[in-house]
Amino acid sequence: MKIRAVGQIGTYLRRELVARTASLSCLLWPGQCRICRCPLEEDASVLCANCWRELSASLGHFYCRRCGRTVSPYGLLGEGCGHCAQEKIAYDGLLRVGLYQSVLRDLILRLKFHEATEFGDLLGDMLRAVFETRPWSESIDYLVPVPLHWRRRLERGFNQAFLLANQLRTFGVPICRDLVRIRYTRRQWDLNPAQRRRNVKGAFAVRRDHRFEDKIVCLVDDITTSGATLSECARVLKQAGAEKVYAIVLAFAEAVE
Ligand SMILES: [Zn+2]
Ligand SMILES: [Zn+2]
Repeated sequence: MKIRAVGQIGTYLRRELVARTASLSCLLWPGQCRICRCPLEEDASVLCANCWRELSASLGHFYCRRCGRTVSPYGLLGEGCGHCAQEKIAYDGLLRVGLYQSVLRDLILRLKFHEATEFGDLLGDMLRAVFETRPWSESIDYLVPVPLHWRRRLERGFNQAFLLANQLRTFGVPICRDLVRIRYTRRQWDLNPAQRRRNVKGAFAVRRDHRFEDKIVCLVDDITTSGATLSECARVLKQAGAEKVYAIVLAFAEAVE
């Protein structure tokens, strides 16, 4: 029953995506696909048929709700999978929109590095569709965007995780920004899993008058690879008294092992 429900997410997502983004139309580049810039057919909106197809291909795979890796339905073991059975993961569950590839990757990169904050609505639609399917029985007290160090936020001008958390506000869950990044860390991309864990160790803290005691929180971020950042955030939140820490991300990137 559980597996069947997971399998339905792909279909649900595709239907929701097409329906919800139709209204966005081509506000930015009328008549052009927002990703590949090829001419759009008259009744198409936002993306061309080819880009929609590629985007759909990165969504809706079976994945482990503990670590986020793509697995076959037969690879799921209880709460996790064969890959993460031996891993220490501080968060209690992970939801992802899709894989960090093709059009989904392009959308995230544009949101992140080109200040194309208008893509937030499109990505927000996808995030909301996934959040709606969450299997967690508890209601979430706070959405907690994974914080950027103030230097990086200054460089970028915004925190993309906050923009995404804001997209989930329609669920009526308040955003709490009492988790802060206290150490500037190098980017995780070219590090192996062990280096990633070391890189983020001690990088986060909670504000003195935080509100996490006995709360159920959900971290929000754009991408996760090894889960090291999310896990470190969850560890700090639990140390501060959080009862459960879940996480939702737009994309899961395959880790460099
Ligand atoms: Zn296109
Ligand atoms: Zn797993």
